[in-house]
Amino acid sequence: MDITQFTKKLKELETEGKSTQELYNEISSLAMSLALSKESKPAEKNAYYLSMEFLIGRSFFNNLMELGVLDETREILARKGIDINVFEEIEDAALGNGGLGRLAACFLDSAAGLGLPLHGYGIRYKYGLFKQAIENGFQVELPDNWQRFGDPWSIRKENEKRIIKFADMTVTAVPYDMPVFGKRVNVLRLWQAEGSEEAQRISEYLYPADDTEEGKLLRLRQEYFFSAAAVGELVEKHVKKYGREFEHFADYNVIQLNDTHPVLAIVEFIRILKTDYKVGFAEALRIAKKTFAYTNHTVLPEALECWNADLVKKILPDIYALLIKLYLTQKDEFALLKCSAEEAADMAIYSSDRFSMANLAVFVGKSVNGVAKLHTEILKDSLFRTAYKYYPEKFQNKTNGITQRRWLMLCNRELSELIDKAIGKEWRTDISELSRLGGHVPAITDEFTMVKAAKRKQLFEYISRHEGIEIPEHFIVYSQVKRLHEYKRQLMTAFAILEIYKGLKDGTIKNFQPSVFLFGAKSAPSYKRAKAIIKFINEIAAKLNSDEETNGLLRVVFVQNYNVSYAEKIVAGTDVSLQVSTAGLEASGTGNMKFMMNGAVTCGTMDGANIEIVELAGKENNYIFGAEVDEIERLKTEGYEPEKLLKTNALHNYAVSSLIDGTFSDDGTGCFKELYDALTAGASWHKPDNYFVLHDLQSYVEALLKINADYQDKKSFAVKQLKNTAFSAFFSSDRTIKEYARDIWNI
Ligand SMILES: *Cc1c(COP(=O)(O)O)cnc(C)c1O
Repeated sequence: MDITQFTKKLKELETEGKSTQELYNEISSLAMSLALSKESKPAEKNAYYLSMEFLIGRSFFNNLMELGVLDETREILARKGIDINVFEEIEDAALGNGGLGRLAACFLDSAAGLGLPLHGYGIRYKYGLFKQAIENGFQVELPDNWQRFGDPWSIRKENEKRIIKFADMTVTAVPYDMPVFGKRVNVLRLWQAEGSEEAQRISEYLYPADDTEEGKLLRLRQEYFFSAAAVGELVEKHVKKYGREFEHFADYNVIQLNDTHPVLAIVEFIRILKTDYKVGFAEALRIAKKTFAYTNHTVLPEALECWNADLVKKILPDIYALLIKLYLTQKDEFALLKCSAEEAADMAIYSSDRFSMANLAVFVGKSVNGVAKLHTEILKDSLFRTAYKYYPEKFQNKTNGITQRRWLMLCNRELSELIDKAIGKEWRTDISELSRLGGHVPAITDEFTMVKAAKRKQLFEYISRHEGIEIPEHFIVYSQVKRLHEYKRQLMTAFAILEIYKGLKDGTIKNFQPSVFLFGAKSAPSYKRAKAIIKFINEIAAKLNSDEETNGLLRVVFVQNYNVSYAEKIVAGTDVSLQVSTAGLEASGTGNMKFMMNGAVTCGTMDGANIEIVELAGKENNYIFGAEVDEIERLKTEGYEPEKLLKTNALHNYAVSSLIDGTFSDDGTGCFKELYDALTAGASWHKPDNYFVLHDLQSYVEALLKINADYQDKKSFAVKQLKNTAFSAFFSSDRTIKEYARDIWNI
C-alpha cells in the first residue's frame, strides 16, 4: 500500500454509526498496512536496546505523523464530521514509570528517523503504570488497562515464541512486535509471559516503583524473563545465519543495557554459549565483553539493582553458578591489576550475599556511560571511582535527548510552523538547522508570544475539562511535572509557593504578575512520604485557589494522572520549567529538555542536564539558584543543621510549620507530621532534610520572584524563551543516538 491508496481507503471508510474505538482500530490497521509495506531490509549489524520500560505514550497521532499522513487524515475525517481529537480518548501505552522509559521510546524514534538499525526488547505488561486519580487530595491508584481499545499497533508473532526456564517453572515468552516508523522501520519487540497462572503473572504488572523492596522475587523473574528471551533469540538467529561461530558475534550485534534491570542478559548469554554451544567460559566472557554496553541512570543506591544470592540460587541455579564464577574471574583479574582489598571489594560482583548488577555491568560492559556531563563526572569520581581508575577507557558520556518529532512537531504544531516560516523546513529532518532560529529571535518574538498564548489557552482548556479547574488566560505558567520523589523536591516548590502567598497577603510582595503553579506527578504506591507531599500540595491548592484576596494572583493545580499525553500539552503551554533537584541527584532529566524546546525558561539548580541547558542557551536566559554539587558535598561533611534555618528565617518557619500547626489537614493520617519530622529530625537512615530543601529554599523563592519581575517586560522575557528553543537542537535524541551509534555501537 502507498499513501495514495491509504488516502483512497480512508476516504471510502464508512464512519456512520461507528464508535471511536471501532474507527480507531480501522484507521490504525490501514496505517499499519501502509507502514508494513515500507518494512526495511535487515541490516548487517544491529543494535538492541534492552529496557524494562518503554514509556511510549499514545501511538496514534505520532505514527500517522511519522508515516506522513497525519494532516491528510485530519482533513479527511473533518470532512466526514469527525474531529481527530476524539482519539485522545485512547489510553497511553504507559509501559514505564518516567524518564528512563521515555528515553527508551525517544531513542527508538530517533534511530528509525535517522535510518539506524536499533531495535527494542522489553516486556508487554498487561497493565501499565497505574492510573492516578486524586480523591480528597490523596493519590488513588487504579489499574491501567491500556489495551482497552485494542492494540492495533502490535503484531503477535506466534511462531517466534520462546521457552524460558526457572528452576520451579517454565514460561512461554510470546513476542509482540510494534513497528517503529521513520526512514527505517525498526521493531520494538515486547514479550508476553504465557503458561500457568503463575507464569502469566510475570508480565502482568509494571513495577510502579524503582526504589522499593516489594515483590523482589517477581521482579527478578521479570528481569530474567525478558533478558533471556532477547539474548536467546539473538544467539539463535546468529547461529542460523553464520553457524556456531561466535568469534564475530559482536560484529553483527551490540546490546545496550538500559540501567541495571536487564544486566542478567550478560550471564544468560554466557550460559547459552557454554551450555548449548559448548563454548568455554573464558571465551564466552570474552565475546560478552565485546557485545554488551551499559548505561547508568542513577546514583541513588536504592535504585541500583542488587540480587540476594539465595534468591538467585533458588530459581536460577545455573545463573547463580555463573555469577560466582564471574566473581572469581574478577578476583583473579584484580589480583593481576594489583588492586587493594578495599578496591577489589568496591568493584566486586558479589559481596555480603548479594550480587551487584551495576558492578557486573561495569566489569563486562565494553562501555559504561552516564547520561549528562555532570552525571558522568560523578560516576567517575564517586559511584564507579575505583572502576574508573582501572578501566578508564570504558567510561563515556552520552547526554540524553528527546525526540523533536513528538516533543515539538506533534505537540506544538503552531511553534513548528512559526519556525518553518523563519528558517524553512530543513530543521524537521536535520535538527541541527534549528540553531539558525537564533538569528531571527527579536524579529519573530511577537509571533512567538502569540503562539505561546495560544498553547497556554489550549492547556487551560484541557485542564478545565480534566480537572474542572479554571485558570484565567493571562496567568504565567510555572510547571513541575515528573515522578514524585523527595530528591526532585516538589516539597520545596510547595514551601516556596506558601512563602509567596504569605508575601502577597501581608503586602511585602508587590507588582506580582498573576501566576499558576502546575504540578503533575505519580508517587510509587508504597512511598509514603511522596504520597504525603501530593496531599500537601493539594491542600495548598485548595486553600490558595479559594482565597479571594489572592486567587487573582496566585493559584495551584495538581493535575491527575500525569502521563506522556498530558506532558505534550503541558510542555507546550508552560512559561517557566521548574527543575529543582538537589545538585548531584538528577542524572540528566529529560523533562527539562522538552520545556526548553518549547520555549520555556528553566528555573533550576546546577544539576543533570540543566547545566548543559544553560551552557547552550545562556545563564542570562535562565534562572539558576541553589547549592551546587561541591557545596552539597561540603555540607554533608561539615554538617548541616536545617533547624537553625527554621529558627532564623520566619518565612521558612511559616511554610514548614504549616505541616503541623493545623493550617492544613492530613485527615488524621499523621503523614504531614512525618514529613515535618523528616525535615527537622531525620527519618529512617536519613539525616534531617536529607535533600537540602531548606538550604535552597530562600534562593529558590528569590529566583521565582525575579522571574515574575522580569516577566513585566513581556517582550524581553519572550526573547529569553525563544532563545531557549533556538538553542535546543543539542537536546534532540537524534544527536544522542548518533553519538551512541558512532562511539559505542558502530552501526
Ligand atoms: C519526560 C517525561 C518524564 C521525565 O521527566 P523528568 O522531569 O526528566 O523527570 C517523566 N514522565 C513523563 C510522562 C515524561 O514525558
